[in-house]
Amino acid sequence: IRWMADAAGFPETAGGLFMGGGSAANLTAVVAARDAKLQPEKRLDGTVYVSAETHSSALRALAVAGFLPGQIRRVAPDEAFRMDTDDLARLVEADLAGGRRPFLVVATAGTTNVGAVDPLDRIAAVCERRGLWLHVDGAFGASALLSPARRALLKGVERADSLAWDAHKWLFQTYGCGALIVRDRRRLEQAFRVETDYLRDGDLPGAAPNFWDLGLETSRPARALKLWLTLQTMGTEAVAAAVEHGFRLAAWAEDEIRRTPGWGLVTPASMAIVTFRLNDGGLSAEQADALTLEAGRRLERSGFAFVGATRVAGRAALRICALHPDATERDMRETIRRLDAEARASRKELAR
Ligand SMILES: *Cc1c(COP(=O)(O)O)cnc(C)c1O
Repeated sequence: IRWMADAAGFPETAGGLFMGGGSAANLTAVVAARDAKLQPEKRLDGTVYVSAETHSSALRALAVAGFLPGQIRRVAPDEAFRMDTDDLARLVEADLAGGRRPFLVVATAGTTNVGAVDPLDRIAAVCERRGLWLHVDGAFGASALLSPARRALLKGVERADSLAWDAHKWLFQTYGCGALIVRDRRRLEQAFRVETDYLRDGDLPGAAPNFWDLGLETSRPARALKLWLTLQTMGTEAVAAAVEHGFRLAAWAEDEIRRTPGWGLVTPASMAIVTFRLNDGGLSAEQADALTLEAGRRLERSGFAFVGATRVAGRAALRICALHPDATERDMRETIRRLDAEARASRKELAR
């Protein structure tokens, strides 16, 4: 936890805990923000700001924490699917003027669909000006903090109140290894600690932290152990190099897409994610949708590679997010070449 808090640039007061993943971390952060910023009887006046690309688990967390749809504002995206901070500031001011209590912004560092990073510094400025809690969902993207060449992408994260960071994504762990890091550990205690007569051993002087006071779970597995073991055996520099490799894998795929006639980028490589589709002038948008997805399905059936299907700005696209340290430049280029071959074969079959 301390190592992750240092990577985020959080102060000495920081703390946090491991839990099942980003979904649980987002819920924990929403509850901490609610209890830090809203008096219980004013909860229905609170307003929350998310973007069009905010992960579904954050929206579920808001519902579970008792917020109604009318309390959630969707900030407009910019052309690169990032939160538009002018729109954010406008919405916050309008809510303040209307007697609401803006209390939380959920920003994303590495959106699931296209790897967009919200402008954290500018969002932090809005939050600091109006006293809102800034939660950064870095479930996928926070690992970029470990790469000296990339950490500037997350500039401003050090001003956040909380950060969700999954080790079971870009830190190469098996599932069940997510973390929430908060700037002030007492905020978690204030939200989650309940006085009991039992489980008092942690109150003794010199005792280890009572993690059940910081979150939802009482009995909990040693989720941090596997990450700790990876860091101890590989070393943090090797882990950082493996994170950096993910950026390069996406860049190689992007380069091969650019070289392949008939295909176009939908979004360029960002945080190891690249999306693309057929853009052959001879195809209607609907035909390009269908053939793009069919090429992906055929490649998967061939057993060579699985490339995910998605939708970006309402149109079908394929999405590559390849993080494996052993994947190579050749793997990435060959994946694009084979997708192209599958698309051609599929077109021929349709024409027959
Ligand atoms: C994966 C992801 C989540 C959900 O995390 P889980 O570990 O699957 O619960 C939330 N937010 C973002 C941005 C993600 O990429």
